[in-house]
Amino acid sequence: MIINVLGHDISVIPDVDDKNNYGEFHGGICEHRICVRSDMTKKEQDYVLLHEIIHAILHITGVNCMLTDEVEETVVKAVSQELFSIGYRLRRPRTV
Ligand SMILES: [Zn+2]
Repeated sequence: MIINVLGHDISVIPDVDDKNNYGEFHGGICEHRICVRSDMTKKEQDYVLLHEIIHAILHITGVNCMLTDEVEETVVKAVSQELFSIGYRLRRPRTV
């Protein structure tokens, strides 16, 4: 699946290399991708995807450069947990 965030295509890949992580955002010059562990429930995967999309927004806008890694993670957790608790989810593209 490819999602578009702030004009940037991001590949969403259903697994991560590091099994100690639930998900990861990789922001490169030419490529952005989000990996989400596929051995979690759909609800957990939806939460991790929302969390990683917020990391992507901070990266693409450059806001992450103003934050330490610890502060960024704290901000992303606060925002993603609250948005998820009030029902925000990525609307998945329809398959034909
Ligand atoms: Zn995070």
